[in-house]
Amino acid sequence: MRRVTTKRELRAALTAGNNERRVLVPTMGALHAGHAALLRQARELAGSEGVVVASVFLNPTQFDNAGDLSAYPRTPEEDVNLCAECGVDILFMPEPQEMYRADRSLCVEETQLSRVLCGASRPGHFAGVCLVVSKLFNLVQPTDAIFGKKDYQQLAILRRMVRDLDFPIVLHGADIVREKDGLAVSSRNVRLTPEHRAAAPAIYASLLAAAESFARGASPVQVSGVVRAALERLHGVRVDYAELVDAETLQPYAAGSSRPALLAVAAWFGEVRLIDNIELPLLS
Ligand code: AMP
Repeated sequence: MRRVTTKRELRAALTAGNNERRVLVPTMGALHAGHAALLRQARELAGSEGVVVASVFLNPTQFDNAGDLSAYPRTPEEDVNLCAECGVDILFMPEPQEMYRADRSLCVEETQLSRVLCGASRPGHFAGVCLVVSKLFNLVQPTDAIFGKKDYQQLAILRRMVRDLDFPIVLHGADIVREKDGLAVSSRNVRLTPEHRAAAPAIYASLLAAAESFARGASPVQVSGVVRAALERLHGVRVDYAELVDAETLQPYAAGSSRPALLAVAAWFGEVRLIDNIELPLLS
């Protein structure tokens, strides 16, 4: 594996490799089992002939809250080891000044899907994501890129970006990796208090219960209400949103619709904001 920190080194490493299939996995570091699954999927997709590129970049432009950025865990040495273990060929780990000029003056903003769910409570977040991912797409020029469904809204927005800006890149969504107790693996889980860590599996349990009510024909309000009620019972937990939406447009799900649905939730467990979601099969 080659580890590079500048755009120039990245370019040199890319021209040295086979370019038939080039698969990119962007991350913000503090890598865990969820990231490892994406990296292994990338290795499989690229095959022995193709090239797997991972990026570890704690992107400042997607943090709407300076405290969240400074509290974000950083484990660069472990990240390097995990990438090597998962078969990454090139690991790009730039510093912020390598990625952003002080006087940068362009933005990449998606204006529909970014307004709802996490976008409603994190202004500017998805513009930061679109900016950094479009830069990574230009720098790496991958044929394919893999993103986790854990950040389902991010994946939907990036699909829209690729479509509307004609990036010649195939996006792949990877299933959510969970702890044994159902909690979606996240870099933020280590910041939970022991009490909140013990309570957090209720998120996925409530999504499963709500999915059952959806299958029995409950209304959108009833379905999201199952999640809201289960989490609001917990001490020190505040629900940011729990919403049943159209899986593609992310707009509120119309009762009786025959389109795929997504149930998405974000909740504060003390100081830590956790997100999760479940795709709901079509009602027959
Ligand atoms: P992040 O480092 O948080 O920006 O995440 C990098 C990529 O890993 C994103 O595409 C995430 O959706 C994905 N990811 C993070 N956690 C998980 C998880 N538990 N399961 C699947 N994908 C994940």
